[in-house]
Amino acid sequence: MSGSLLQFAEVCDRLAATTKKLEKRALIADYLRTLSLEDAARAALYLAGAPFPETDRRTLNAGGSLLSRALAEVSEADRTAMHIAYRRHGDLGAAAQDLLEARKDHPASLTLKQLEDSLAAIAASRGPAAKLPHILHLLRTAQPVEAKYILKLAVGDMRTGVKQSLVEEAIAAAWEADPTAVRHAVMLTGSLPEIVAMAATKTLDSARMKLFHPLGLMLASPVNSVEEAMKRFAEELAAEGEVDLLIGQPPLSRALIEDKYDGIRAQLHCGDCSQPGRVELFSRSREDLGEAFPELVDAFASISEPAILDGEILAWNPATGRALPFSALQQRLGRKRVTREMQEQVPVIFMAFDLLAFDGNLILDAPLTERRRQLESLVARHAGATQKFEQRGQALLFGQSEDEQQSFSRLMLAGTTYLRTAAQLDRAYTDARTRGNEGVMLKALDSIYQPGKRGLAWLKLKRELATLDVVVTGAEFGHGKRAGVLSDYTFAVRDGEQLKNVGKAYSGLTDAEIDELTAFFHEHTIEDFGGFRTVEPLKVLEVAFNNVMRSERHDSGFALRFPRILRIRDDKPVAEIDTLARVEEVYNAQPDKPQNA
Ligand code: AMP
Repeated sequence: MSGSLLQFAEVCDRLAATTKKLEKRALIADYLRTLSLEDAARAALYLAGAPFPETDRRTLNAGGSLLSRALAEVSEADRTAMHIAYRRHGDLGAAAQDLLEARKDHPASLTLKQLEDSLAAIAASRGPAAKLPHILHLLRTAQPVEAKYILKLAVGDMRTGVKQSLVEEAIAAAWEADPTAVRHAVMLTGSLPEIVAMAATKTLDSARMKLFHPLGLMLASPVNSVEEAMKRFAEELAAEGEVDLLIGQPPLSRALIEDKYDGIRAQLHCGDCSQPGRVELFSRSREDLGEAFPELVDAFASISEPAILDGEILAWNPATGRALPFSALQQRLGRKRVTREMQEQVPVIFMAFDLLAFDGNLILDAPLTERRRQLESLVARHAGATQKFEQRGQALLFGQSEDEQQSFSRLMLAGTTYLRTAAQLDRAYTDARTRGNEGVMLKALDSIYQPGKRGLAWLKLKRELATLDVVVTGAEFGHGKRAGVLSDYTFAVRDGEQLKNVGKAYSGLTDAEIDELTAFFHEHTIEDFGGFRTVEPLKVLEVAFNNVMRSERHDSGFALRFPRILRIRDDKPVAEIDTLARVEEVYNAQPDKPQNA
C-alpha cells in the first residue's frame, strides 16, 4: 500500500505536540520504517519541510496570496471567515484545517505520491493562473489535516520543530546507520531522498559529491571591541586546555584577521567536468544570484576543476583596487535584466575567503589553515582565467583614458594576517575601515567549516561608528514592565541656536536610571500628549548607534539606526552636545550611506 498523506499529517501533528528532540527523532524513525523506500524518501523530504531536494532547482513559486485564494475558493469562506481563521493561528495551514473541517463531505486521503505529482505540476506551471488549478485540485482532494500540511509545506514553514538535521538523525536511527555518515552523504549529494535509499541498503559510502546544491554558510559571532575579541580567543584556547600559551605573552597566532567586506555573501560552484561552463552562485538564503551577476558566471565558466568557494560579491573600483560601497552593489539587485551598461557602471568581483570543496571532495572538516592553503593555490591557478579587461564605460567612470585601462580579475583572494596582539588587531581594524570595509573578521586557524553555524570560531568586529552626545527633547511611556515609566527618549543635537531631533532610544539604561529620569521628566514636561510628552531639553545622553541614515522622520533630516544609550551625561552641559554638522560628518564617513529610514 502506498504511504498515505493522512498518516504523514498525523505524524506531523504528533511531532508538533512534543518539544522533546529524542521523541521526535524516534517518531520519525518509526514512521519511516513503516513505509516503502520510495515513500520513506518522499516523507523524509517533506518532514524536513522541503517540496524538492536541494539538488533539484525546481521551486513551487506559489505565494501566500495565491494559496489563500485557492483556500477561499475550496472552503467557500468569505473574507471575514478567512481573516478570523488566519488570525486565530497566524498560519495559513492551520487556518485551512479549520475552514475545511466545516465542509460537509470529506474526501478520501491522498497518497504521498499524489502530493509529489501535484507539487511537480505546480512547479512546472508558469504564473499564478496556471498554478491555481493544481492547487485547487490538491485542496479539493485533501482531508482537512492533509490540507494543513500541504499549505505549510508550500509556505515553507512546517512548524513541527523538525529541522533537516533531525530527519537525518532519524534516517540513521531507522536503518542503524552512522549519523555522521548520513549527514556527510546528504552534504555530498544534496538529496535527502537519495540518502534514504542508501542508508536502507547500507551503501552510504557510495555517495559522491555533486555540485550545484547550496551548502549552509558558516556565520560569525559579533564582538564589540578588540579586547572582547582577544578574550574570546583566550576562552577558546582555555577550553582546549592551552591557556598557558596566553600567560604573559601575546604571540597567540591562533586566528587569521581578514577585512569584513560589505557586499553580498555568496557560495560559488563551478568546474563540473560533466557540465562544462556551468556556474552557480547561491545567496545566504540559498537563492540563485547568477542572474544578477552574469559577468561572474561568465568569468568562472572557464574554470575546469570542480570547486565550491565561499566569499563576498563586491562592487569594485578597479582604479583604486577597493570595494565600492554597498549602495553601489544594491543598484544591481532587484532587476529583471542586468544591462551591459549596468555591468560597466558597477563592476563586480568575487572576493574569495574560503574553499569548501575541490577536486571532487568536500573539505569542510579540514582546518582553516589547510582550506586556506588550497584556496590560495586555486586562486593562483585561476585568477588569470577570470581576468577581464575593463570596458570603456568603466574607464570613463573612473576618469581614466582608454590607455590607462586596467584589467582586473573577477576572482580575488581576501588578504589575511595572523592575529598576534591587540594593538595589531586595532591597527588592522583601522586599516580595514580606511579601505572602506566594514571592520574585520577573526577566524580560528584550526577551525573546521561548520555550515549554518554561528559559533566562536569566526568573530566579526564592527565597532560603533562613533558616539554622540545628545539632549532629550521628548519622553514616552514604555511597554510591558516599562508601561508606567518614561523610558523611550527622543533626542536632538544642536544646529546653531536650535535643537534638531536625530533619533529615539529605549535601551541601555538600568531600571534605577529610568526611574530617576521618569521623575525628572515628570517635573520638566512642556506638553503632555498622553503617552508622549515634550520635555525641557536638559538631560544629556551619550548614545551609540550602528549607522546614520538620511530620513524625513526627524527635523534634522537624519536618523540614527539602532541607537543605544551608553550613559547619562550629567557632567555635560547642553551647550556642549554634538552638532548637526558632526552628525553629517559621521554620515559622510560611512562607507555605505543608507538612504531611507
Ligand atoms: P553578519 O552578516 O553581520 O552576520 O556578518 C557576517 C557576514 O560578513 C557574512 O555573512 C559575510 O557576508 C560578511 N563577510 C564580509 N567579509 C567576510 C570575510 N572576510 N569572511 C567571512 N564573512 C565575511
